[in-house]
Amino acid sequence: MLTFTFLGVGSAFAKRNHNSNVLVEAWTKGPDHQAVPDDTLLIDFGAMGPRALHELKDRTGFEYLRAGSLIHYPAIRRIFVTHQHADHIGGLEELAMMNTYTFEDSQSGKGFKPQIISAMNVLVNLWDSSLKGGMGAIQGRHAILQDYFFILSLKHHQNKYDSFTLLKRYRFDVFPTDHIQMERKYDWPSYGLYLTDTQSRRSVFFSGDTRFDYPAYASMMQQAEICFHEVQLFDQADPVHPLLSEMRTLPADIKKKTILYHYGDDWDSGPFDFVQDEFAGFAVPQRRYVICG
Ligand SMILES: [Zn+2]
Ligand SMILES: [Zn+2]
Repeated sequence: MLTFTFLGVGSAFAKRNHNSNVLVEAWTKGPDHQAVPDDTLLIDFGAMGPRALHELKDRTGFEYLRAGSLIHYPAIRRIFVTHQHADHIGGLEELAMMNTYTFEDSQSGKGFKPQIISAMNVLVNLWDSSLKGGMGAIQGRHAILQDYFFILSLKHHQNKYDSFTLLKRYRFDVFPTDHIQMERKYDWPSYGLYLTDTQSRRSVFFSGDTRFDYPAYASMMQQAEICFHEVQLFDQADPVHPLLSEMRTLPADIKKKTILYHYGDDWDSGPFDFVQDEFAGFAVPQRRYVICG
């Protein structure tokens, strides 16, 4: 079984619903039969991620994320990074520092190192232009990304990226998204995920941050049982997120299986109530969605 729990569902500037980061849990039996999942993956960990995880650990069913009053960061085995905006990476310094200094492995005497996963162009920029400032020095020496993480760099072959799997069953394929264009499409790296249960062949689409680009995603969204797609509630010229008005132009059957996330703090102010009927609704923060049985 695979479950998705959004730590938060907010836009980059939202305050009520934290950042749009997801805890993916892989289970051999499921949360009703085991207290700890067999594998865990965060899709992004933004600036509000630590606060969100701090809250999640006190919810029933998530006790394994607790170490006394602290977040038990070693319970997070892997992190996939979609792109470099702070609402997606701003929590990584705390995660890495606490894994290194708070949760020393009793046998090795060293800290816990999770796996960090992304395309090479994200990982190189992530260190050189985001994390290095705070994490590039440790007592007595310089540090590099490998001091904190095992790195899985997804390579690009012809027109496809390497995939990665959880429990040798759930395959995550990576695709580029049209989020920020400096000069042309895809020239600033950002990615979404397409997940396939290789046993049941069920699949799930996760957009990552992107402008509206249904032509690029249509075949995946048609195939998927569930689509998670980010959205921007207000209209804007030349947006870097998909406008709700654009999302409403999707085919009706696609909308019915699409759960919207990355939305602003005014989602429940009235004018967006139609989303519950027209789409599969707004993603609910800190609810465990079973996405593959
Ligand atoms: Zn974002
Ligand atoms: Zn972004």
